[in-house]
Amino acid sequence: MSDSTHRDPIARGGRVLVTGGAGFIGSHLCRRLLAEGCEVICFDNLLTGSMANIEPLLGEARFSFEHYDVTNYLYVDGPLDAILHFASPASPADFERLPIQILKVGSLGTHKTLGLAKAKQARFLLASTSECYGDPEVNPQPETYLGRVNPVGIRGVYDEAKRFAEAMTMAYHRHHGVDVRIVRIFNTFGPRMQIADGRAIPNFFTQALRGEDVTVYGDGSQTRSIQYVDDLIEGIWRLLNSNYVGPMNIGSQAEITMRELAETIIRITGSQSRIVEKPLPPDDPKVRRADNTLAREVLGWEPQVSPEDGLRRTAEYFAEALKAASAREESASG
Ligand code: UDP
Repeated sequence: MSDSTHRDPIARGGRVLVTGGAGFIGSHLCRRLLAEGCEVICFDNLLTGSMANIEPLLGEARFSFEHYDVTNYLYVDGPLDAILHFASPASPADFERLPIQILKVGSLGTHKTLGLAKAKQARFLLASTSECYGDPEVNPQPETYLGRVNPVGIRGVYDEAKRFAEAMTMAYHRHHGVDVRIVRIFNTFGPRMQIADGRAIPNFFTQALRGEDVTVYGDGSQTRSIQYVDDLIEGIWRLLNSNYVGPMNIGSQAEITMRELAETIIRITGSQSRIVEKPLPPDDPKVRRADNTLAREVLGWEPQVSPEDGLRRTAEYFAEALKAASAREESASG
């Protein structure tokens, strides 16, 4: 905890820029920073983020929003204590829909935000990803695993953008002395995920709640480890306040097959939906599980919310979000 005399950059009263602050994770982060007493400036071009995610924050004196694309020159008036670079489409469905934007925000956007961090002498935290490990040959994946990424595959646009972003972040650290942190985020779920972002958890909830077929890609034996968003945010907050430079995994050890995940969501929602198999997209990782030893040792962090509890909380959100979406559709057609 920080007091008013604390000089830590993200202490109470610190001024923090969050890029992608209207996205799923970014909007949770903005709330946490406000709760910690920071002033939050949120930049988002709303490509995949949404105003609905930050609507309740707009009235707060310590929160401001700018509709901005961070691949362009960045200007922020006054000092900044920290920059958290979370702007990027992140769903595999976006990899095919928005490949150039993903490459641009990971490369040009990271360059611009690092330049701003250097100019403002602000601490910089990069949102990186377990996708850096690609389709891994070791399971679980520690930070020292260098990954197995197909640079020219459909996922390459995101994986390589984030790998480039990590390289750029470390270059600014080594060459310009910028104070940096890198979080490698594993599969995360919770309220404010987009209904139709194409990822497994939103798809399964939407399909189960609408009584539609639940689409498992391939035979559903591929695994992910899933964490509830509050746990991720706690990990990011601790990493930001730590002295640890270099990539750190924040993810759970709760590895689950996609078929088990589909079954769990059908059970939790009390749905009658059946599971159907669809083709497995190319380069889809067969296994993924966070080795979170480093986060436990350095940050004293570990997930507090079980997947079952987290999925129950998330079910309520999706039920409400789907109701609101169909009400909007009705009023638009009527
Ligand atoms: N997946 C699935 N059905 C869907 C969407 C995704 O079986 O409707 C699979 C996907 O092929 C992958 C896993 O679920 O193996 C997780 O996909 P997601 O899009 O959530 O994120 P990823 O971890 O691949 O980035």
